[in-house]
Amino acid sequence: MRFRSTRGGETVSFSEAVSQGLAPDGGLYLPQEFPDLKSHLDQWIGLDYPCLCREFFRFFATDLSSEDLENCVHSAYVNFSNQHTAPMIDLSKNWKCLELFHGPTLAFKDFALQLLGNLYELQIEREGKHLCVLGATSGDTGAAAISGLLGKKGVKVFILYPKGKVSPLQEMQMTCTDAGNVFPIAIDGTFDDAQRTVKELFADLEFRAEVHLSAVNSINLARILAQSVYYLYAWLRLPVDEREVTSFVVPTGNFGNVFAGWLLTKMGVKISEFRVATNQNDVLHRLFNSGEYSLDEVKPSLAPSMDIQIASNFERLLFYFLNGDASKVNEVMRIFRENGRYCFENFDISGFSSVSASDGEIPNLIQMVKREYDYLVDPHTACAFKDLDPEKRAVILATAHPAKFPAVYREAGMEIPVSTSLEKLKDRESRSYEVQVDTSSIRSFILDRIS
Ligand SMILES: *Cc1c(COP(=O)(O)O)cnc(C)c1O
Repeated sequence: MRFRSTRGGETVSFSEAVSQGLAPDGGLYLPQEFPDLKSHLDQWIGLDYPCLCREFFRFFATDLSSEDLENCVHSAYVNFSNQHTAPMIDLSKNWKCLELFHGPTLAFKDFALQLLGNLYELQIEREGKHLCVLGATSGDTGAAAISGLLGKKGVKVFILYPKGKVSPLQEMQMTCTDAGNVFPIAIDGTFDDAQRTVKELFADLEFRAEVHLSAVNSINLARILAQSVYYLYAWLRLPVDEREVTSFVVPTGNFGNVFAGWLLTKMGVKISEFRVATNQNDVLHRLFNSGEYSLDEVKPSLAPSMDIQIASNFERLLFYFLNGDASKVNEVMRIFRENGRYCFENFDISGFSSVSASDGEIPNLIQMVKREYDYLVDPHTACAFKDLDPEKRAVILATAHPAKFPAVYREAGMEIPVSTSLEKLKDRESRSYEVQVDTSSIRSFILDRIS
């Protein structure tokens, strides 16, 4: 299988797409063609999570041996604390919750980043090249990336995060690791400032080649594919007559998670709808409603991992919306970069709906779910319950463990959820770096640390 960029260019292998993250032309990688999974689905019903993941990746990671793939996948999920890896809980007759927070950092991003860490390690072993991983985070990505790459030989990890805008526990997950290969960088600015700097460094091709830069943001295709697996795992466990009438409701920021689910529809898996749930940073909600993709200020919210305005992965959907016309994708992205907005005429993407929950609504949604279904959701997952129709079948993706965000419960006068793995962090020493958020300062910081 080969992979191509949303903006054209030459195709690359799976391993190249993984190690590069962002394509050299600034686009995002996508599979050049899709396997038809229909004839495999019946055989996959009883598989446990790692086995399903392996079977799925066989179609894409065609330049890895089956033994290597097997090793990468199996060790990725051994640190998950639930035997089903992604258990599905019944909330009501029509609603199910897919719990994606049983990994080491208690958020869904562990699914992809534990695997990505192993893929990187394998590549370093094979090629003897060192890697320098650079990412921006609004909290959970950084923590999950660091956990996935902790102590891996030949990898140095640089994670930029907005100082004071991630939750204290998220910050501890990044800074209390004791690992010599991890550099959490607190910047004065927003997540988008951090992400822009990361993108600019990736655009500096000379620097990129010199330090072997790789991306862990959800622009990395391996992350997307790893996330497709839990949608498939959930879908296979639905009663057959419910599969095609059940929507997936997805707390959304960068559009990576929901795009991963949607990709399955290109592989013959029938899913009726994806419901995109945003917080008050509602760029995607506005897009799905009006066809206008436009920048706004980032408003810090109670669901900080969705505090973004530019949803990088939207470019991937755009590629299919524009019928695979890379030059058109280039043009839309250029106009968007220049004007901060782009208006689509007849923006009609079937299979999606959207909703946006404000900070005023999030605590009420948490309390409503607790009262009606005796289930505690985190502030990101809470957004998914806004205006959700109890008469319609839905799988709600629970993206984080509530214990990561204690302040929300404290303020709502609720019992504060705890997690033993987070409590342990509090005894560790924290280490982070403060660097100005401009490309030249970050570039020199990295160069100093890798030489
Ligand atoms: C990252 C994150 C999201 C948003 O996921 P995207 O792939 O950026 O859309 C939602 N909830 C939590 C808890 C997250 O960590």
